[in-house]
Order: sequence, then structure tokens, then C-alpha cells
Amino acid sequence: MLGEQQATLLVVDDMIENIEILNSMLSERYRILFATNGLDALAVAQKQSPDLILLDVVMPEMNGYEICVRLKQNPVTRAIPVIFVTSRDQEEDEEIGLKLGAVDYLTKPVRPSIVRLRVGIHLELKRYRDFLTGLSMTDGLTGIPNRRRFDEFLETEWLHAIRAKTSLSLIITDVDYFKVYNDHYGHAAGDRCLKTVAQALASGLTRRTDLVARYGGEEFACVLPGTDHTGALAIAERLREQIAAQRLDHPLSPVASFVTVSMGVATLQPNQQLEIQALIETADRRLYQAKQTGRNRVLGSDEKSCV
Ligand code: GH3
Ligand code: MG
Ligand code: MG
Repeated sequence: MLGEQQATLLVVDDMIENIEILNSMLSERYRILFATNGLDALAVAQKQSPDLILLDVVMPEMNGYEICVRLKQNPVTRAIPVIFVTSRDQEEDEEIGLKLGAVDYLTKPVRPSIVRLRVGIHLELKRYRDFLTGLSMTDGLTGIPNRRRFDEFLETEWLHAIRAKTSLSLIITDVDYFKVYNDHYGHAAGDRCLKTVAQALASGLTRRTDLVARYGGEEFACVLPGTDHTGALAIAERLREQIAAQRLDHPLSPVASFVTVSMGVATLQPNQQLEIQALIETADRRLYQAKQTGRNRVLGSDEKSCV
């Protein structure tokens, strides 16, 4: 239904024989990764993002319950469904496992057909969940991340910047005289224009860690982690030129004969005393100033040591 790409499973068990049993049942249909202890399991889960984890309970050092707790605490691995596969078959054991966030609980010795069916069911549910999550984070018109995704991403990067003591830049972009454009060409042409602007912004940001989102009607926001103000200004200027280079006719614009944008750029080194809102407000204020001082321009801080 949602595209049949081969799924990847992570099998965690301290006994190689147990891994081999599950592998023999599932390797025909799925790509199998394995780990024989908790730390390896967490590292593989974080790095390879498997679609499902089959997790033993009784293991030396870190047991399966603890691994499950850690997987659920980490935002990167939280959404990966976990199925316990264990010889602990008491009601209380199963209750603990399910309360810790596992989607299912299988007892050893496992029955091949049941393992395959249950894995299949949970993978299908996972695919559907991923599809809906993607949809809820994407702007329907332009296909780029939406405001919800922007808020979530900015918060994550903000917290990361506090820990890593790095700077975080934000560019807010607004199309110049877009109301006039809509009035002149019609709403459908306005929509096409917004798609082109979104595409130009998305293709202009080359770092995988950057995000461009539709922030509002004809406003877009770029989040640039680990980027100082000088760098962010250079990127904004390049993006502004890239949009102008599309030469989308805008005959009634007082600033140019084609579609242009104005941009406000802000950079902060986040800390516990600052709030995200300060970054957004600063970028917004500079965008407003860019509009006031003629549009079709990028405005940042004029201080040399700036934020
Ligand atoms: P300024 O240069 O000061 O930014 O002027 P402006 O006309 O661009 O700003 P204003 O905020 O007055 O108008 C924004 C317009 O954007 C009005 C609104 O109808 C249009 N708009 C917002 N969302 C969409 C959309 O999804 N599609 C289309 N076609 N137009 C949109
Ligand atoms: Mg606007
Ligand atoms: Mg505008």
C-alpha cells in the first residue's frame, strides 16, 4: 500500500543461536541486523534506524527492559517498535514489557509462522505511522516541511546548541508585494510562485543539517544549526539571488520587474537564560526593517561581533 521497500530488523540477543533462529525465519523477507549486548543494540538502533527491534530480555550487563527504556528515552529511536522475544513467560514479565512501551511480547520457543505474521503486522503499522507523521509535517502546497515541523526542529536544534555551545541562525523570508501578485495573476499563479520560491530555497540550502520550512502564507524560515552570523548572511544573500534568478514576472512590483524577497537574519548562541522566541523575534524585526528600507534585501545585525 505505502511502497514495499525492504524493511530492516534489529535482532538483539546475547546468544548467537537465538539470533540464528530468528534470522532463519525472517532473512528471506527482511534485512537483518543484530547485536549481542545492550550498548551495541542502542548504537545500531541510533545509527541504522531499523524498522523494528526484536529484543531478548535476559542478558548480562544491560537487560532487555533497560534497553527498551533507553530506546524510548531517545528521540531518534523512540518511534521504533520493539517486540520482546523471551523465555520469561509469566504474566508479570509480559506486563512489564508492554508497559515499557513494547508493541508485542513473544515467548520462546518461538513459532515461525507467528513470528512472521506479527512482525508483518507491526511493520505495516509502522509504515502507516511514518507515512502519517511525514504528512503531518509537510506543507501540502509546496511539499517542504510545514510550521509544525519547523517548531519541532527549532526546539531540538536549540537544545542541541545549548549542549554543544554552538550558534544557531534563523532566516525568515517574505515575498515582496505578493498581494499585488495574487491580485494581478490570480491565486493559482500565486500558488505556483510560492512553490517555485520554496524549491529555490530548498535547493539553495546544501547542508543536510539545515531546514527550510513554510512558516506562514508567503513566509519561509530557514534554520541553520552551527552557523555564525557572517555565514548566515552569506547564505541568505545567495538564496535571495537564487529566487531573483528565477525571473518570475511581477510587473506591478515597485522594486523589480520580477518576484523578489526580503529576509531577516538572526543568530544566537543559545543558553538556559535565553528563549527561542528571542531568535524568532529578532529575525522578524530585521525582516520588517528590510521591508521598510526598500525590500529585495537581506538584513542582519550591523554589529561586527554580531549575533
Ligand atoms: P510585503 O512586500 O510588505 O510583504 O507585501 P505583501 O503584499 O507581500 O504582504 P501582505 O502580507 O499584505 O500579503 C500577503 C499575501 O499573501 C496575501 C495573501 O493572500 C497571500 N497568500 C498567503 N498565502 C497564500 C497562498 O497559499 N497562496 C496564494 N496564492 N497566496 C497566498
Ligand atoms: Mg507576509
Ligand atoms: Mg509579503
